[in-house]
Amino acid sequence: MSDLTSLTLKAALDGLNDKSFSSVEITQAHVEAVEAARALNAYVLETPDKAIEMAKASDARRASGNAGPLDGAPLGIKDLFCTKGVRSTAGSKIIGEFVPTYESTVTSNLWRDGAVMLGKLNLDEFAMGSSNETSAWGPVVNPWRAQGGNTKLTPGGSSGGSAAAVAAQLCLGATATDTGGSIRQPASFTGTVGIKPTYGRCSRWGIVAFASSLDQAGPMARTVEDTAILLTSMAGHDPKDSTSLPVETPDFASFVGKSVKGLRIGVPKEYRVDNMPAEIDALWEQGIAWLKDAGCEIVEVSLPHTKYALPAYYIVAPAEASSNLARYDGMRYGLRVEGANLTDTYEKSRAEGFGAEVKRRILIGTYVLSAGYYDAYYVKALKVRRRIADDFDQAFEKVDALLTPTAPSAAFGLGDRSDDPVAMYLNDIFTVTVNLAGLPGMSIPAGLDASGLPLGLQLIGRALDEGTLFSLGGALEKAANFQAKPAKWW
Ligand code: GLN
Repeated sequence: MSDLTSLTLKAALDGLNDKSFSSVEITQAHVEAVEAARALNAYVLETPDKAIEMAKASDARRASGNAGPLDGAPLGIKDLFCTKGVRSTAGSKIIGEFVPTYESTVTSNLWRDGAVMLGKLNLDEFAMGSSNETSAWGPVVNPWRAQGGNTKLTPGGSSGGSAAAVAAQLCLGATATDTGGSIRQPASFTGTVGIKPTYGRCSRWGIVAFASSLDQAGPMARTVEDTAILLTSMAGHDPKDSTSLPVETPDFASFVGKSVKGLRIGVPKEYRVDNMPAEIDALWEQGIAWLKDAGCEIVEVSLPHTKYALPAYYIVAPAEASSNLARYDGMRYGLRVEGANLTDTYEKSRAEGFGAEVKRRILIGTYVLSAGYYDAYYVKALKVRRRIADDFDQAFEKVDALLTPTAPSAAFGLGDRSDDPVAMYLNDIFTVTVNLAGLPGMSIPAGLDASGLPLGLQLIGRALDEGTLFSLGGALEKAANFQAKPAKWW
């Protein structure tokens, strides 16, 4: 039998259904792969016993004819999702050894449908970052290396563990979250597929909050169809999240493979930024050509407020983070450093518990929300955010979806950008607009750069129109025929 870890999620579900192998067998194969890949630091917690126990229960359900849509499929879970009885840290020292007494809605939905949990995946601290280097657990190493080199590269962030685990075949798919690009940029850096659905499509309940008006969960996997299967399970209205949308979840997989003939695709001229590597420009042109060949009509569109998106994001996101993170004070759970009095205990716990990037965000956020600066920064950023959303509304009067690069570079070396926050923030240039407008965005692996590293293309859709993205993503995937895999060095 071929290596069970190399199957797509779809092929694995088919194999489980026709009894080619059991969930225990495919789960065991993944448990072994995870153990052999510790050099990547993708998992911060392996739960092999739980995985085998869930796999046995799945095999029993299947034997009795009660298998769910994901039954028996082993998945990795970003450590931002609270998992009942299983340590959940958000990549932060301040949360310490917190073991939730409840399960996030998204992961509950996956277990309801029969999935198996392999463990918790590394991430930037509180999902703040683009390289997984802010994690209290240390950076994740990208399974991909440049041709002929052995420099350690970042898998991107903040869902670096999810991306590396999917690329290195340490799970069939993973959960991830995206506040400014954290599903799409790591997907681009690791040759995997990731979709950030419409804001409100997946419940945020039980996911550690970073910036509540931007945070959204989504899947990462090795094919467009696999992400569609996962999102169908993850999504759904949840009364426990007041921003969860009361809408039906379509069967997203039914959109993959549908003809895209006649769809109008916008190419935003403002995304042609200075200093973009020629290879990314070329890949973008290639993507345009692929969609044309598939029968799409290409239209140039303008999103004039794009240049204000990063500054607006780096006001809104830290503002919300500073407020969300006020709850970590050493009193209820996690790290507590005793001080001379209550205030001193707060200060010492927070000083020791938060990493440098998180502190930077709290400082920025507190500053832009403070009396006197609130109107100049925060309110202004909200107005810019509205303009950005309006730009998209206007574009979507003319087109059905947009095509852009996902990130302005391929994966870079660990440590290369950690001294320069602005250089790091520039990673998000093509992705943050989508979060600010609450739209769905998907990254599809489309090619390799000259050093053999993966590059992704991004599709942006209308609110609640993930279906069109799955059809277009399927068309791009077929045309790109991306078969490359990282050489196994770990
Ligand atoms: N890189 C962005 C940031 O650091 C986005 C992170 C995310 O989407 N969680 O804020």
